[in-house]
Amino acid sequence: MKKLIQGIVDFRKNMTEESRALFAKLALGHKPDTLFIACSDSRVVPNLFASTNPGDLFVLRNIGNLIPPFSATSQDNSASAVLEFSISSLHVSDIIVCGHSECAAMHALAYGVDTLTCPHLESWLTYGKEALNKVKKGFTIDASLTEHNQISQVNVLQQMEHIMSYPFIRERMEKKQLRLHGWWFDIAHADVYCYEKEVNKFVLIDDKEAKVILDKMN
Ligand SMILES: [Zn+2]
Repeated sequence: MKKLIQGIVDFRKNMTEESRALFAKLALGHKPDTLFIACSDSRVVPNLFASTNPGDLFVLRNIGNLIPPFSATSQDNSASAVLEFSISSLHVSDIIVCGHSECAAMHALAYGVDTLTCPHLESWLTYGKEALNKVKKGFTIDASLTEHNQISQVNVLQQMEHIMSYPFIRERMEKKQLRLHGWWFDIAHADVYCYEKEVNKFVLIDDKEAKVILDKMN
């Protein structure tokens, strides 16, 4: 917490004219084109690894980057509210679900949670259970990874499926007004990967893969 307080003082002192102008402009409104869904993990910092500025991303973060499917929205509607708002009010053109390596939520899915101290966590992880079950049955994207990292990658695809269960999202995707992407952040190397359906792999986003992604968007 001490670092946080000092950080605020330093931020204020060191703010450039350019940043001041950006925030003054953003006070009048924002128009992010991307909804970024990531885990709450402190090591996953989308604005840092994607070099984005304030105003660029609309962000949803929760434990395990989970989205309850449309059929479960009567129990958990925080994530669905984010989906609705980002699409109907902000008109984002892209949704990214970004999982990550060494995710404690995936570890908890694989090895269990202390249900006495974390009953809500156990309940929340229900939305990741399908990914766990798929890996247990032998489905994987990269068998060289540890089990919890395999679950984490499969979970990205599972959450994409959950997102597509929302009729207003499916409709926009069918009309090519909205794209959905699955990414995975490898903490140890600070590398970001993009899921490519054609090869059923998470591919490192380097210059070559960036071109592949951008070409598909045109
Ligand atoms: Zn995590």
